Amino acid sequence: MKALPPNLRPIPLRVRPAPFEPAYGLLGRLAVRHGYSASRAFVADMAFGIADFVHELECGRRLAELACLAGLAKATIAASTMVTDQAGILWIGMERVDVAANHRAVSAAGRVCPCCLRIDLETRDGPEVCRPHRRIWWDLTGVVSCPVHGVLLLDVCPNCGSSPSRVPTSPRHCRCGHDLAGLATLPLDDADLMADRYLVGRLGGVGASAHPLFDRMPLHDAALAMLRIGRAGLLGARGLPFRKDITEPALWAKMASIGFREAAPNES
Ligand SMILES: [Zn+2]
Ligand SMILES: [Zn+2]
Repeated sequence: MKALPPNLRPIPLRVRPAPFEPAYGLLGRLAVRHGYSASRAFVADMAFGIADFVHELECGRRLAELACLAGLAKATIAASTMVTDQAGILWIGMERVDVAANHRAVSAAGRVCPCCLRIDLETRDGPEVCRPHRRIWWDLTGVVSCPVHGVLLLDVCPNCGSSPSRVPTSPRHCRCGHDLAGLATLPLDDADLMADRYLVGRLGGVGASAHPLFDRMPLHDAALAMLRIGRAGLLGARGLPFRKDITEPALWAKMASIGFREAAPNES
């Protein structure tokens, strides 16, 4: 393991770690706590000499440095961050996400659940700007909804039309400044939430449910398998080309949830 940079010290103002918050989300809230509107500017001013520290955290590296900075245990941060091991396997905590670490499991868009953001503002303590926090499953390709609130994740800012970034200082605001907390996104039928409830349940975000087949697969493989089975169930073998599913999150949620049920015929 690399030695920590000698000028890296715990910073005086801290934030309480939030459940299921990835490392880059925590860094963003630390930046906000110190009055910054960009994580990169915050890191640059601390000048502890790690090139592109934000990107390193996005890739699950340099967690020891963030732990030192934030005054937290590295294990606390690693439990909710995507980390690739020496064998190339992508993990979140104890959960195997993908055995092919080609980033296909990681969503490039910084999707958010506007309901989660509003609940953070209402229920968390500390300075209001530091309350909204990311959930690691917002950044998984295989998850398209928030099973807690029963809505699709917001993937496009209604003000500027771009995807929110994965690494803003606060997930509450788009790069254009638009407030995303409490915005309306499409509510899903309970039956169409089944797939994401299962996937997020594996990460501990909602109550866990067992599945005889998907439990044996890495998380991302399970997400794709249920999607493919559901597509065949809904449309037959000549259904939509696979790429088309990916552009329609509501259809993705429906197909994946059908796949979840079809692959477990003995369950309701
Ligand atoms: Zn939510
Ligand atoms: Zn915007």
